[in-house]
Amino acid sequence: MREQLKLLEELQRHDAKIQELEGAKRAIPAQLENMRGDLMRVEELLGRECGELQETEKWRSDKESEMRDEETQLSKAKAKLGQVKTSKEYMATQRELETTRKMAAEAETKLLSVMQASEQARSRIAEHEAELDKLRTHVTTEEQEAQGRIATIDAELEKLKAERDDAAKAVRADVMKKYSAIRMRRGLAVVPVRNATCSGCNMNIPPQLFNTLQRGDSIELCPSCHRIVYWDKLMENPDGKPVEVAQESSSQ
Ligand SMILES: [Zn+2]
Repeated sequence: MREQLKLLEELQRHDAKIQELEGAKRAIPAQLENMRGDLMRVEELLGRECGELQETEKWRSDKESEMRDEETQLSKAKAKLGQVKTSKEYMATQRELETTRKMAAEAETKLLSVMQASEQARSRIAEHEAELDKLRTHVTTEEQEAQGRIATIDAELEKLKAERDDAAKAVRADVMKKYSAIRMRRGLAVVPVRNATCSGCNMNIPPQLFNTLQRGDSIELCPSCHRIVYWDKLMENPDGKPVEVAQESSSQ
């Protein structure tokens, strides 16, 4: 039975490790997905910024052509001023000239502020493009590394599962059934008893059961948490005999 308990412990160690590795492997695609999501958001942001800049540039070139028209108007008005014959006509032309000049000045101020905004937008875009490049490189590296990690985990899993199956084969069918049932319900199915206390639930083990555990010739369950329990000292002794009875048994 001691051998069976040992096998169960080994089985449990392997099962726990297998579970942990499978969890780690499952988490990898989600991590990559998150990173790709970040990348997409930065790409979208950059796309919006470029779109806005394009609109601003369009507005700017429209405004510039408007200003050229106004300049033409202005020189026409100036030419007209030289040709007027009456003072009334002169005043009217002068007023027209003033209005055109004012409009041109306003347009120029506006154009200047738009040009500044465009410049700022361009440097912001350049910054974001650099960030995006970095992020892309990072994601690519992570993807490659993830493949490596998955391969490592798969290799480790294969080895662990083979070892686990070997141990499982040597476990008695009824013991195995108990182990699997407890494991399903409790996670940890096999726990040591230290100082007459079950390490699974921290409850005291009744003296009679503790005596039985010290003999180590049966599979016993903790009366409180119903896990398979064994006396910790029983597993510590490498010669296969319980520590406290080792002297008596040495003659056998
Ligand atoms: Zn217990």
